[in-house]
Amino acid sequence: MEQVFSKVLSLFSKIDLTKLVEQASLWRLFCFHPMRLSFYLLFFLFPALMLAHDTHSCAKPQEVAVRHLALKLTVDFEKKIASGSAQLQLDRKQGSKELWVDTRQLNIQSITDDLGNKLKFDLQSDKPWLGKALRIELNDLSKSVTIFYATTSESAALQWLNPEQTEGKKHPFLFTQGQAILSRTWIPIQDSPGIRFTWEAEITTPKELMVVMSGNNPQERSENGVYKFRMNQPVPAYLVALAVGDLQFISLSERTGVYAEPSMAPRAASELADMEKMLVAAEALYGKYQWGRYDVIVLPPSFPFGGMENPRLTFATPTIIAGDRSLTSLIAHELAHSWSGNLVTNATWDDFWLNEGFTVYFERRIMESLYGKDYSDMLAVLGYQDLIETLEDLKDHPEDTRLKLSLENRDADDGMTDIAYEKGCLFLVSIEKKVGRDAFDAFVKSYFKEYAFKSITTEEFLKYLSRQLKLPEGVQLQTNEWIYSAGIPAGTSTPKSARFEQVDAVLASWVSGNTPSVGLVVDGWTTHEWLQFIRHLPETMTQEQMKELDATFGFTRSGNSEIQFAWFMAVIPNAFLQADNSLESFLKKVGRRKFVLPLYTAMLKNERLSAKAKEIYQSARSGYHAVTVQTLDELFSSK
Ligand SMILES: [Zn+2]
Repeated sequence: MEQVFSKVLSLFSKIDLTKLVEQASLWRLFCFHPMRLSFYLLFFLFPALMLAHDTHSCAKPQEVAVRHLALKLTVDFEKKIASGSAQLQLDRKQGSKELWVDTRQLNIQSITDDLGNKLKFDLQSDKPWLGKALRIELNDLSKSVTIFYATTSESAALQWLNPEQTEGKKHPFLFTQGQAILSRTWIPIQDSPGIRFTWEAEITTPKELMVVMSGNNPQERSENGVYKFRMNQPVPAYLVALAVGDLQFISLSERTGVYAEPSMAPRAASELADMEKMLVAAEALYGKYQWGRYDVIVLPPSFPFGGMENPRLTFATPTIIAGDRSLTSLIAHELAHSWSGNLVTNATWDDFWLNEGFTVYFERRIMESLYGKDYSDMLAVLGYQDLIETLEDLKDHPEDTRLKLSLENRDADDGMTDIAYEKGCLFLVSIEKKVGRDAFDAFVKSYFKEYAFKSITTEEFLKYLSRQLKLPEGVQLQTNEWIYSAGIPAGTSTPKSARFEQVDAVLASWVSGNTPSVGLVVDGWTTHEWLQFIRHLPETMTQEQMKELDATFGFTRSGNSEIQFAWFMAVIPNAFLQADNSLESFLKKVGRRKFVLPLYTAMLKNERLSAKAKEIYQSARSGYHAVTVQTLDELFSSK
């Protein structure tokens, strides 16, 4: 029934009803009829309200919605489970009888309401990615339910690290990753980006460890291992996050700071010293930062992403610590999410580009404010190269290159490609070019204000765009092409970078054999120039060429993960044996999916390295987060 209902609704959202009714010659019949109002309500208003139906959640917020979560958990590193309770405060519509909650890989023990009643519940059959829908029968007067539960060894959001997997090697570590639909594997919750709630938590952990969350955080260790948190701004479930470990806090400014293991903390603090400047630049662009503090936690290397924009506390990979602050655009990105994503959120994962396209656009504007246009131009060109590569990878699935996705019956994680990030950004850049920067900035600022603490669909965004942004005579934004068609609209201009033109000239000189590596002029190159250089090395290189480059520039042993990664990608097809050991230790240490997926893919395509890839994966797999493991399992099982 639920499925039929949602099918009908999604059908409504796709049909132009006016046209349909006109075609059926019903329009005139209704024009003067007293039934007209209810017709409007039934066929226009109701579907419009329901547009945001999220196919990745069983929740029925139109009947009962969670408005506040009170979480009470004890973290047990011996058993590798977290157990306790989640109290959900409810907003019930009249006549509602059931609460639907998303769960996956959880052990649900019992459920009571605020009146002390034990409530009846059942778990529906296990669905791939979505887990088991939990149906709870409410009493007429139940205002909240408390679910007693424990996580399991399968709970995919949680990664439990043994001491050997940490920097300090003495204490275990735990962190969560909720996006896209993994929060339900550690909290029974309405796990939809369209449903927002405030929350509080009490977390108990062994005394020698410190707990931080995506809320108000301690800066010192507690004496008894008990930590309390609050988040008074409503957020969706994917933005609730937890990390437990041997952590140290270093303040960077009045409202920014960094958490990391003690042996990593000083390096992290020095790398991220510009955070306050970034925050000031971001506020100057699009309005006040709404979340109080902005801190970053640098996690152990198995963290599957570059960064995760958990409110007040960005979770970041240690692979951004390059020693020269050259990879901090990632922090600008996560910071930008404090507006796009966290303040204004995609209502469903089909609208993911609203989170990421805006954030990439905003990130580059922050970098431009801080380091100049020639700097952010380099980022734009590298991003464009990533987009072209993604379009090539998805050439057999053109539907996945639309901005508005259709991920029903698929993992929501499938939508997390560069399409949302780079095509989304390119769309916004194209609007900026057409209407001018001042007009576009005013629009973006008003958009963040209008939809603050709300979740919206692509369609709602388009309506707001056409209402709010005045177009110069004859200008068209081609929104339908950008949003609902595959690829990039014809006539879109390609980003250019003057600094990269110099790099290309240096590279050409080396390729032509006129200049050996030692004679190349590379003074003052940032990571970005190096990436441009390495990405455009000839597809086929001789051993001599690779040896010469590596001897001069030390790519194989570079401490910079982006440079190492690009270099490995360039030399894997060319059988550069000298890089093998370094590649292997990189794969065994780093769990960031953006790096390990292309590396394994390239190795599997290479006859010399395909068996080696399988061997390395077998030994490294247990050290990766479930998000990375799932993607890599698919890769290795398809080969
Ligand atoms: Zn992002």
